[in-house]
Amino acid sequence: MAAPSPAFLSTVDLHTHSTASDGSLAPAAVVQAAAEVGVQMLALTDHDTVRGLDEAAAAAHRCGITLVPGVELSVRWKERSLHLVGLDIDPAAPALVAGLAELQRIREIRAAGIAQRLERIGVHDALARTQALAHGNQPTRTHFARLLVADGICRDLERAFSRYLGAGKPAYVGAAWPELDQAVDWIRRAGGQAVIAHPLRYRFGSQLRGRLYQAFREMGGAGIEVCCGTSDADDVRRSANEAAEQGLKGSVGSDFHGPEQPWVRLGRVAPLPAKVDAVWASSSA
Ligand code: MN
Ligand code: MN
Ligand code: MN
Repeated sequence: MAAPSPAFLSTVDLHTHSTASDGSLAPAAVVQAAAEVGVQMLALTDHDTVRGLDEAAAAAHRCGITLVPGVELSVRWKERSLHLVGLDIDPAAPALVAGLAELQRIREIRAAGIAQRLERIGVHDALARTQALAHGNQPTRTHFARLLVADGICRDLERAFSRYLGAGKPAYVGAAWPELDQAVDWIRRAGGQAVIAHPLRYRFGSQLRGRLYQAFREMGGAGIEVCCGTSDADDVRRSANEAAEQGLKGSVGSDFHGPEQPWVRLGRVAPLPAKVDAVWASSSA
């Protein structure tokens, strides 16, 4: 289980999910819940889609908070998977639209492959039923995990990943995610800022992380998430130091997916240490 949430409430939360990807609340409900706990600047960053942004923007207008249009892209760097958050993007920018279409194709192929493997181990009608769980949007592995729980095959989502869906497990299917530099380019051409999401979750050593940050800055990356929903004080200190050393800005995001994961809450993120420049200070939002 992840560390308990720090007792901070941030008025800025730049990493959240809705039913447009693998979150459990509709975009408007995420915005409303954020406004209710005091968040004033919120980014909706669904996986590889901007489908929730219009609804979120309308809700933000009603609630009187600022919605930063965002997205979380799955990418590859040195044959490893990473997540890249794009903030303050123009969701209609052609380069980004084309990139997202490519990502949706990759996800569609992967979903079909996962479903095929699940059928082989006796999960009936896996693709159609998972698509229904995804509210008509592209299913993610989390949606397949929810199906395995709903069918009583796994007790919880963690077990669905550790027994079936995780790397090397019977229903695992890899994906040919785009390269990091390509995805940074899509975000920049959409007028946005590229931020490496939850940088300590990849289990890189500090040396490899340093190489990533340097390469990322050279390709036009803006910053890293210094404060995440599951960061402890050591994580924040380490990431703040590394961002400052590498000339990268800092972002703050809970990675909220819904109320059924109570250890990650909207706005529950540590404050950004003063030594790091805030990525949102230069945002036009
Ligand atoms: Mn997710
Ligand atoms: Mn992520
Ligand atoms: Mn996320």
